[in-house]
This record gives sequence, structure tokens and C-alpha cells, in this order.
Amino acid sequence: MAEEDDKIKSASKKIEEENSKVECPRCMKTVSPPLKSVDAGMRLRLGKEGLSDIPSEACSECFSEFDKMVSKGAKLRAEQVAKEKNRHFLWQSRLGVVKQARQLMKQKAYSEAALSYEKYIKILEIVCKVPHGTLSPDHLQGQAQELNLIASVLWDLLKIYDKSSSHAQRAYEAADKLTEFARYSNSYAILIRNAEAELKRARYPEAYKRFLKKTRADRPRCFISTTAFEGQRTETVVLLCLFRDHILRTHPVGKKFIYFYYRYSPRIAKWLDTKPLCKKIIAGSLKRAALALNKRFHLKEL
Ligand SMILES: [Zn+2]
Repeated sequence: MAEEDDKIKSASKKIEEENSKVECPRCMKTVSPPLKSVDAGMRLRLGKEGLSDIPSEACSECFSEFDKMVSKGAKLRAEQVAKEKNRHFLWQSRLGVVKQARQLMKQKAYSEAALSYEKYIKILEIVCKVPHGTLSPDHLQGQAQELNLIASVLWDLLKIYDKSSSHAQRAYEAADKLTEFARYSNSYAILIRNAEAELKRARYPEAYKRFLKKTRADRPRCFISTTAFEGQRTETVVLLCLFRDHILRTHPVGKKFIYFYYRYSPRIAKWLDTKPLCKKIIAGSLKRAALALNKRFHLKEL
């Protein structure tokens, strides 16, 4: 009898257990209670991981899954923050690196200088998140000072590698990069002139030749004097030059204008070469503008 009783007891217990089982609102599995509570903080963190419809309770399996997601996300974010911090630190250190390289140049420690300059380029690659050797002016849009600095660094690198008998390839690479960046330099015209001078005594003249050949198309030229007035030093050209040197150059805004003018005027000049009528119209308005400017600023007396 007692055996029978036990059987009944255990069967009813089983039924009871079965009846008291709950369904996990996430995976829909029926599990033994209790479900684990997913608190508001955890739901918020899961939301940040891109999860939606997060229940307020879940089975232990689902709960540990949530736990893993949250800690993995936190770890990833912490890594990202650390990387960002590192980038920021590198960015801050870059000017010091260039300064050091220039000092080494002065001491004629060329290979050490090259290392520092290469480090500077590497920093920019890391900050801009680009693979080695692929940094281009597009990555530093609007950062005129940095573009100017890169051009000067590449010029120094080209000269350093040109001194070494084992760095022909690097000299060519520096020359090619310089070609990309030189037009953003404040001293573009000087770079070209210097390259022409270096060409005569270079170990790898081909590197300078490549640079010169590629930049020939957009040598800075003043479209006013070279195009609108066919290269003649007319009164208009003289007045406009006086205006540039005595008025524009003394104001920060004017200086900016000159910078952009010399950056874009070669392209405008090229375009105007194909539009003779436009050229005539522009020459006429420049003449009137020059006379008006002369009246206002007494340019000839400056
Ligand atoms: Zn579940």
C-alpha cells in the first residue's frame, strides 16, 4: 500500500511541477520557475547593443545570453575609447615629431630625420584610418595647414632618400606623394623651382623629373596676366599687382584670397584659353575694376 501511495505522490508532484512551469517570454521554452528579472539598466544596455522587445523576465539561458552581449558590448566600447584616445594622443604628438625631424636635418642626421618624418606620415595614416602608403589630400580636406606641412615633409624625405644609394624606390615614392600634396603647399611655386634646381645634382633625377612632369599641367599662373592679357604687362596688370601687394597682402582675408586665387587661377586660365569671347569680356571688366581700385586706393602712389 505504501508503495502505491508513493507512486501517486510522485505522479501528482510531477503534474504539479508541470503545471507550475513557466514560459520564457523570449525563447518560448517552458522552464521551471522562477524566471530571472531583466532590470531596467540591463534592458537599456541591451538596447544599445541593438536588441529590441526585451522582456522584463527571461529564463536563465536567455539571461546568460543577455549578460554575455552586454559585457561583450562594453568591452568593445572600451576598446574603441582606448583606440580613440591613442589616436588623439598620436595626433597631438605629430608636430613634436616633425620638429624633431627638422632638428635632425639641421644636424645632418638624415637617416634619423627620415625615420621621424616617416613616423609623422604613419601618425596621419593611423589618425585618418587609411592603409600604409595611401594617404591622400582627400583625407585631410579643409586642413590647409596640415596639407602644407605634409608637402614640406615629403619634400625633405625626397631630398633625404635622394642622398642615399640604397633608397631609390623610396625617393620615387616620396616624389609621387609630393606630386599629390604639393599643390596644397603655400610654397608650391618654390617647390617646383627647387625641384628644377635639385634635378641637376640629383642621384635619382628621375624622381624629380616625375614630380616636375606631373606638376607641369598646373603650375601656378596668374590667369589675369597670362590669359586675359596674353602675358602682357598692361596698365591693368600693373594696377592689380599693386593692389595685391599693397592692399590684399596686408589683410588676413586678402591673404586668404591670394592663396585661393593662386590655387584656382591655373584651372580658370586653362579653361579661359578655350573661350576667347569670355577672355575679352573678363579683360574689359578687369580693366574697369583696376581703374576703380586705383581711384579708391591711389595705387600708383603706394
Ligand atoms: Zn529563454
